[in-house]
Amino acid sequence: MTRRPPPAPVPIPSPAKARAMVEARDGRQCARCPQQGTPWHVDHIFPLWLVDPIDPERWRYWLLDNLQTLCASCHQAKTNSEAASRAKIRRIVSKVRTPMGAKRKARARRPALPF
Ligand SMILES: [Zn+2]
Repeated sequence: MTRRPPPAPVPIPSPAKARAMVEARDGRQCARCPQQGTPWHVDHIFPLWLVDPIDPERWRYWLLDNLQTLCASCHQAKTNSEAASRAKIRRIVSKVRTPMGAKRKARARRPALPF
């Protein structure tokens, strides 16, 4: 089995250039509601906090396909929803880590065997 060569580097536009490209594509139309022309934001559809730092495809995060127009209200709602998800994940991870740490401490407190 042969491995595919890594993808060619994709030029990352500046935030201003990316915003202009999204505006040209979407015409300031919110992707989630009928709002158009109101204060708008460029949103990463797949958020950076979910990008696996060792995923060889992580460069896709920076593509125009991962950007969308959201009105300020929809962007705030999405951000709040993602923050809730992150907090939930952190709580789950902390519960998984705590029992293992607790076991290690319990083992350390066990008295040494008499032989
Ligand atoms: Zn909207």
